[in-house]
Amino acid sequence: MRGITVRGIPETITKCISDNQRFVLLTHIHPDGDALGSMFGLADILEGMGKEVFCFVEEPVSQLYAFLPGAGRASCDLDALHEFVRQAHDKAMMIALDSGDDNRLGKYKDELLAITPLVVIDHHKSHKEYGECRWVEPTRSSTGEMVYELAMALGVEISYSCAFHLYVAICTDTGSFRFDSTHPRTFQIAARLLEAGVNPAEISCKIYDNYSVARLSLLQLVLATLTLYAADQVACIHVTPDMFAASGAAVQDIEGFIDYPRSLQTVKVAVFIKEIQPGQIAVSLRAKGGCDVAEIAKVFNGGGHRNAAGFRFSGKDLAEVRSQVLRVLNNDLGVQPDSTDG
Ligand code: 5GP
Ligand code: MN
Repeated sequence: MRGITVRGIPETITKCISDNQRFVLLTHIHPDGDALGSMFGLADILEGMGKEVFCFVEEPVSQLYAFLPGAGRASCDLDALHEFVRQAHDKAMMIALDSGDDNRLGKYKDELLAITPLVVIDHHKSHKEYGECRWVEPTRSSTGEMVYELAMALGVEISYSCAFHLYVAICTDTGSFRFDSTHPRTFQIAARLLEAGVNPAEISCKIYDNYSVARLSLLQLVLATLTLYAADQVACIHVTPDMFAASGAAVQDIEGFIDYPRSLQTVKVAVFIKEIQPGQIAVSLRAKGGCDVAEIAKVFNGGGHRNAAGFRFSGKDLAEVRSQVLRVLNNDLGVQPDSTDG
């Protein structure tokens, strides 16, 4: 273990931010609303303080989040990132947001970790310590909520663009303020963001009523795979490369699909097995409080939160992955293996 981990904003972070001029912001691969919202929100805050900011992403921002005011500023150019750091005479400060594990920084992980100091701001229960300084609060609804607290600690006024980004971050990570990570403080912050000009109906529309026909076609194919196990306590869906090809949908379009199996009354755990490319499988798990899916994901070297977690496999086929996951879930739910036959 290197560096320090603190609950409550470490003074080192506010001091480093005040003392530095150039910042590189990072987040996790396949960034979701919290990842992008907290990154662009923090970029707004830093620029409001007269700092220079480079937002790095491994892949272009998903069409689903193209509506974010900051979407156009995200760069996939690693050379440009290095040049930005060089111009700071190697004194740029790296900040990783919403990434609970350094492996989640993606394919350029080693190059990114080579630039120091790295400050980590995260709210994952399964957080694996990395970076020189960490601020990790697993009880927080979202990294966006933590970025708001950071702005307050820095004495920065929240601009409309920043409020927009942080609201998207909080709204998406709380399932629109439905999950049990939603605390009184979450609503207090949301209220402040509305006071800064955010229109919740407009943002909801941009997040949830903004899909392509291809996405709905893919949803039809995926929902047709719905299978129940363990006396209907486990619901499983999957997607294959063929389904992407048949529907014309993109990988990002599957965000939110797992809400459908989770919505069933009897279901305690929803499983979404995503074969993005042949042999490359990612698994999403969702629970409703009865089962700690972060612990299930850990069995497979993944992680996440109590009610939302995931992990990755390569070189295994979909049926094999499903039976391994079901075996672990059966154990956890105390169900006999022979009741997994649907
Ligand atoms: P999702 O299912 O939406 O991809 O991810 C749900 C949660 O699990 C997120 O908080 C995400 O960070 C975490 N997660 C998903 N996949 C992985 C993984 O491969 N490794 C780790 N450590 N966490 C993951
Ligand atoms: Mn998050």
